[in-house]
Amino acid sequence: MKKLLERVKRLIFVPKCIFCGEVLPLSITVCLCEKCRAQAPFANDKICERCGKPIDMVQGDLICKTCRNEKRYFDKGISVFVYEEKPKQAIIRFKFYNKKSFARTLGSLLAQAIKDKLTDMEIDILTYVPLHPKRLRERGYHQTKMLAHYVSEICGLPMQEVLVKTHYTPPQRTLKAAERKQNIANSFWVALDIKGKSVLLIDDVYTTGITVNTCAKALKKAGAKQVLVATVAIGKDF
Ligand SMILES: [Zn+2]
Ligand SMILES: [Zn+2]
Repeated sequence: MKKLLERVKRLIFVPKCIFCGEVLPLSITVCLCEKCRAQAPFANDKICERCGKPIDMVQGDLICKTCRNEKRYFDKGISVFVYEEKPKQAIIRFKFYNKKSFARTLGSLLAQAIKDKLTDMEIDILTYVPLHPKRLRERGYHQTKMLAHYVSEICGLPMQEVLVKTHYTPPQRTLKAAERKQNIANSFWVALDIKGKSVLLIDDVYTTGITVNTCAKALKKAGAKQVLVATVAIGKDF
């Protein structure tokens, strides 16, 4: 009977490594095989102290170029992976090819990174970069909310819908860096009273940082005491 149940379960959901597709034991919840985990580009070393972006440390800098030159409204950012081929492909499949099952693995890895890298940080509210309702209808699911759901469960943080996307804007990835800031300026609205609170903001990818910085600006304007950012993957500064 138990064997039959196992077989039925396997027919419905086969855990596979999100990087290489290797079939994994049914008991596994974080679907990253040992080999891929050992080779994964974790964003742990030589990273910007402010945003978590890998930096070229030959000159001994601890802060990346962008954080040095532009105002940062968030206090600290961390990321699980560097945005290299394997994480990039996994995120693209999660976000655009209906791989909703990846949320659990990516969310669990994100939760672990938050525990490891934001230790001792006070966090009152967990939230995520919102999708415009029209975009949500197009995609059918809210990928950053799904990630935040797992982080909330694993880290024991209360998740709330703090930000609302008020304007429907073209996806940031389709625009040049210079256009990105203008594209989403003033398009986030804070729907809750967050005065004096420390907010942890979740997003999937951090490239220029404009999206999370714009959200952080709105949160700070609404009175947030601290804004922390956690993403699944982050681009390099060099
Ligand atoms: Zn693998
Ligand atoms: Zn930085």
